Amino acid sequence: MSLRPYREISRRKSRQIHVGPVAVGGDAPISVQTMTNSLTTDVKGTLDQIIRAADAGADIVRVSCPDEDSTAALKAIVKGSPVPIVADIHFHYKRAIEAAEAGAACLRINPGNIGSADRVREVVKAAKDHNCSMRIGVNAGSLEKHLLEKFGEPCPEALVQSALEHAKILEDNDFFEFKISVKASDVFLAVAAYQGLAEACDYPLHLGITEAGGLIGGTVKSSIGMGNLLWGGIGDTLRVSLSADVVEEVKVGFEMLKSLDLRHRGVRIVSCPSCARQGFNVIQTVEALEKRLSHIRTPVTLSIIGCVVNGPGEARETMVGVTGGGGDMHKVYVGGNPDHNIGGTSMVDHIVDLVETRAAEIEAAKQKEA
Ligand code: SF4
Repeated sequence: MSLRPYREISRRKSRQIHVGPVAVGGDAPISVQTMTNSLTTDVKGTLDQIIRAADAGADIVRVSCPDEDSTAALKAIVKGSPVPIVADIHFHYKRAIEAAEAGAACLRINPGNIGSADRVREVVKAAKDHNCSMRIGVNAGSLEKHLLEKFGEPCPEALVQSALEHAKILEDNDFFEFKISVKASDVFLAVAAYQGLAEACDYPLHLGITEAGGLIGGTVKSSIGMGNLLWGGIGDTLRVSLSADVVEEVKVGFEMLKSLDLRHRGVRIVSCPSCARQGFNVIQTVEALEKRLSHIRTPVTLSIIGCVVNGPGEARETMVGVTGGGGDMHKVYVGGNPDHNIGGTSMVDHIVDLVETRAAEIEAAKQKEA
């Protein structure tokens, strides 16, 4: 029996656009986005969320611009943000122009919803003048009336047609710097729509399962939907929509990409669920390590396994490993090999130290190469 290579994901070939300095599509890494939920007029509160999200790894952050006061605040937000800002616009073309003037790197706007051809032309001109890309964001919950009449209900074909109609408007205005999303809260609908759109065009795709739910339910639902697409090579940027803190959205986005070997950032912990055989409290140790190691951006693998049943095997595959032993003495592995023993209350400090050292070594080696 011959097995085909089972780890390879062949990414769909898409054209590349830019959101500020972040490339989206083509061979660019799949970027992770989130969206603030503060009032945009609260510049300090919004920047606080953006900075926390960026620290967690967000490449791009979206901010709602529902009114003129919000686009007025956007200038200071863009200035203080460490990552490019997408302005979320619904319906009002003037907000889009103001947002482009305020320095937004991208406008999330559906050109078919902003009225006359003149208005579209004005928005496209503002985007071109200010080096601003766009995202067409089709949503099953707000499909155009003519499509609902034609198809009877939101369905993949209707979402794809909506996306292509909006895209045509931009193409007719000689504007091609855009990405597209076709979101739905129903995973079957969202996945089928993205698959259809992936075949119908080569624009970069922004993945999302909209209104996915709270932290656990939303994470599972998003992982099933987006995981399916990413595994199939579809998706150039993503946002996990959770009724949870922005940092959680970013963390979940990265965990999805890490699971599929599509992108690596920070410490990936392999840990067992623990049982009566554990030599130390695995759950508490992993909880403590997740907090203490969250500042590390360099990809490092770490295994925390309660006993020898699976410990040595997992440790062989990770950069740093700990396997629980008897009498509060546990084996530490470095580079896959048994290295020394550790026990007692200093274990977490010791592991943090080892991982930080490994991360620093990797960074030093990278700098030397460069
Ligand atoms: S690795 Fe050991 S401690 Fe962990 S779950 Fe398996 S048997 Fe239990």
